[in-house]
Amino acid sequence: MRILERFSLKKFLLFYLIFSFTILVTILIIEFFSFRNLYLAEKKKQLKNQVEIAYKVIESYYELYKKGELSEKEAKEKAKLTIRNLRFDNCYFWIINTKGFSSRLIMHPIMTELKKKTADDPIFLRLKAIEFGKDKEIIFKKKRNIFEVISQIIEKSKEGFIFYEWAKPLPEGGATKEFYPKLSYIKFFEPWGWVIGTGIYIDDIKAEMWGDIKFLFLIIVLGFGALFLFLVFIISSFSRDINRIIEFMRRAREENFGKRIDIRLDIKRKDEIRDIAIVLEKFAWLEKIFYTTEIPIALLTKENRFIDCNEAAAKLFNYKSREEFLKEKKFTPWELSPPFQPDGRSSVEKAKEMIRIAFKKGCNKFEWMHRNRTGRDFPVEVTLIPIVYKEERLYCVWRDLSKEKALYDLSITDPLTQIYNRRYFISSLENEIERVKRGAHPFSLIMADIDKFKNINDTFGHLVGDKVLVEMVKLFKGRLRKIDIICRWGGEEFVILLPETPVDKAVAVAEELRKSLENMYIDEIKGHITASFGVVGYCPDDTVNSIIERVDAMMYKAKLEGRNCVRSTDKCE
Ligand code: GH3
Ligand code: MG
Ligand code: MG
Repeated sequence: MRILERFSLKKFLLFYLIFSFTILVTILIIEFFSFRNLYLAEKKKQLKNQVEIAYKVIESYYELYKKGELSEKEAKEKAKLTIRNLRFDNCYFWIINTKGFSSRLIMHPIMTELKKKTADDPIFLRLKAIEFGKDKEIIFKKKRNIFEVISQIIEKSKEGFIFYEWAKPLPEGGATKEFYPKLSYIKFFEPWGWVIGTGIYIDDIKAEMWGDIKFLFLIIVLGFGALFLFLVFIISSFSRDINRIIEFMRRAREENFGKRIDIRLDIKRKDEIRDIAIVLEKFAWLEKIFYTTEIPIALLTKENRFIDCNEAAAKLFNYKSREEFLKEKKFTPWELSPPFQPDGRSSVEKAKEMIRIAFKKGCNKFEWMHRNRTGRDFPVEVTLIPIVYKEERLYCVWRDLSKEKALYDLSITDPLTQIYNRRYFISSLENEIERVKRGAHPFSLIMADIDKFKNINDTFGHLVGDKVLVEMVKLFKGRLRKIDIICRWGGEEFVILLPETPVDKAVAVAEELRKSLENMYIDEIKGHITASFGVVGYCPDDTVNSIIERVDAMMYKAKLEGRNCVRSTDKCE
């Protein structure tokens, strides 16, 4: 849920308070308006039921009279007496007789003096409204005489409500002098022409209603309050532990450079928060590994910029610290590389492609040439591990290959002349044979052996001999193509692999080398040297040994045939 993304306890509680307050006010407003009607409706029902009971009483006496068990007079008297004593919560009944010359109050249990008053007495001029049957309430503009209206409508309408003003009975007997708004229900007992009624005072209803509203209000306030406290308790118990987890993660991030952090969160609960804590603990440990390991690791954004790294990564690029590496500039990988990689591809293009592959395959491992802060290039093995953290990101793990490469170079290089040694040459020759077998153009080999080199050593010493070897290699290398591989086969013998070259072309190269060597003046010996050359081409089914044997034989032939010459064959036995 979107709202939970920005969840905070304070915001939630504020929201809760506003929410509950609004609800409370709404309830009260609704209550206030509907309560009145509800209350009135309820009271009306009660009044009706009560009148119904009194009606039944009259009816039963009437039955007795009908059966002849009582005279009519006796029946009426007994009915009046019974009803006089009937009470419902302080409510009493009264009876009007509509028969005779005019309507007359024949029973009123409280205000007995009214019996003597005639119906047209101003005391009865108090009717304000009536509501009979299904008709709506009729409100009189001017107060009307109760008896007059009742006798006018009762025969037709039988029963209904009347609104008027009346005195209240006093606890000590009698009635108040003041009059209060009152609601009564009346019902017509036809056989005797009696109207029986009972009523309640509107202000009593109001008082009762307000009492109830206050009570409801109290209940609601207490309810919301209790819920509020409960929520505060629940949420604070959650947020306390969540805050501990957050604090733990913060410390793991800020304090764990080599230091020991409290690895246990020790949350004493058994719910999902505990599960989250366990997972986060593991993340914190992994983060600790990230920051403390000697393996250089960095984090790249989608825009290919380093946004985080460990100390080892900073050191790899010759920066004093992680902060220094990240502070200066958010580097891209190619800004930390030479413009071109050893395979000749542009670093920008190649890096972007490597990143693309990493995202496609989920991981990409490859060799790369980086350039450190001091401008020194160094080879590395890079492993790119893409992750998705809000947006795409990439972990970059390096393995410095400098030492490995240096050792390897040492293992394939002749220390004196700095060209390849026999070991490298043999493996190159093997590869080339494979390449030709797969369809590449045939290659040729040249073997050169310096003539009478022993004499040089004997005359000028070993060191001068060494110098002469170096000079000769320099000369040869200058005349060869980049793809040609020259190696020191041993002592003063050299072999040259010329890929994609037929024998005749190789003979021409050998001849050129021979001539330029012959013409090279060497200071140290105050003179020149010469060499004998053998040249052969690849023959089907050739092996390293067979082709070397053949070129060695040609070189030997050159020696036999006078030295300082080239001998070759394109024959294959
Ligand atoms: P040729 O090949 O013309 O028959 O005569 P050569 O004197 O060159 O032949 P040989 O194989 O008898 O001698 C090779 C000499 O090369 C022996 C050794 O003194 C010299 N030599 C071999 N390796 C080195 C080296 O690394 N440094 C020096 N200074 N001399 C070397
Ligand atoms: Mg030799
Ligand atoms: Mg020699």
